[in-house]
Amino acid sequence: PFDVLVVGGGPSGASAAIYAARKGIRTGIVAERFGGQIMDTLGIENFISVKYTEGPKLAASLEEHVKEYDIDVMNTQRAKRLEKKDLIEIELENGAVLKSKSVILSTGARWRNIGVPGEAEFKNKGVAYCPHCDGPLFEGKDVAVIGGGNSGIEAAIDLAGIVKHVTVLEFSAELKADTVLQDRLYSLPNVTVIKNAQTKEITGTDKVNGITYIDRETEEERHIELQGVFVQIGLVPNTDWLGDTVERTRTGEIVVDNRGATNIPGVFAAGDCTNSPYKQIIISMGSGATAALGAFDYLIRN
Ligand code: FAD
Repeated sequence: PFDVLVVGGGPSGASAAIYAARKGIRTGIVAERFGGQIMDTLGIENFISVKYTEGPKLAASLEEHVKEYDIDVMNTQRAKRLEKKDLIEIELENGAVLKSKSVILSTGARWRNIGVPGEAEFKNKGVAYCPHCDGPLFEGKDVAVIGGGNSGIEAAIDLAGIVKHVTVLEFSAELKADTVLQDRLYSLPNVTVIKNAQTKEITGTDKVNGITYIDRETEEERHIELQGVFVQIGLVPNTDWLGDTVERTRTGEIVVDNRGATNIPGVFAAGDCTNSPYKQIIISMGSGATAALGAFDYLIRN
């Protein structure tokens, strides 16, 4: 059996595997797609100590670093079941069952898509999901934020300091964000909030040039010209496959303590699939290191 089996090959999983392998213990990593979300990322400017890189390039460096160690890498394999017996068992979609003394779950998350025409087509061509990452690309331009919850309003406040104008589109009759955030938003001169707005289409030619929505009160269709659309309707953690084994929040995030431990002894978690508050590369790598050290601690005590 493995001492540490990491499930997920994004920044958090790679970091966890390297930290575990450096303890000289038997380490494996199973990944559906090595690299994770960064494979879909163009420019990265906030991975500290690297002024600029691109997702696929960073993923290649991660892989190269992992391969420096004696780590059993099982790429393009998807885990479908976790069971705690004497050892922890991870069953893969191909039927194989891997056994390990400890497991680190790092299966990440995905942005919730709005699913309207234009969204997929203009991804990275004006359609964005991460204001911390892509906000500066829209300096001096007009953008929309879809979603009036906390993440949407935080994004709008953040973007208002960078872009020319922000339009917030909220589907329901009221914003759902905390009052302090709403107050801050309404104090800004370059923000417009449209409620009861059902996004119909993101328009463009080679890149985004506008958004069409339906005013749900009057049922009229309206169009706004702009250059960017930030979709902020939530993150979906990749944790459905865990069934009712590992404790999760209402939104599916794995609950971890400050050592990355879950409610199941020997099962740890790291990165975007957990209830850690901010989802970023540097944060997920740090939590991967924490979970690996937590798992090592667990192994020497059991
Ligand atoms: P992920 O990167 O999501 O990796 C999850 C891994 O688990 C993948 O290997 C996946 O294939 C695997 N997996 C999932 N389910 C299973 C399963 N059942 N079995 C086996 N494997 C599984 N952050 C920044 O800091 N700066 C940026 O500029 C930036 N830009 C971004 C741009 C975009 C378009 C996106 C989508 C995200 C961006 N982020 C950025 C966020 C950053 O990519 C994430 O915070 C980070 O990738 C999280 O790492 P992770 O390892 O926790 O999860």
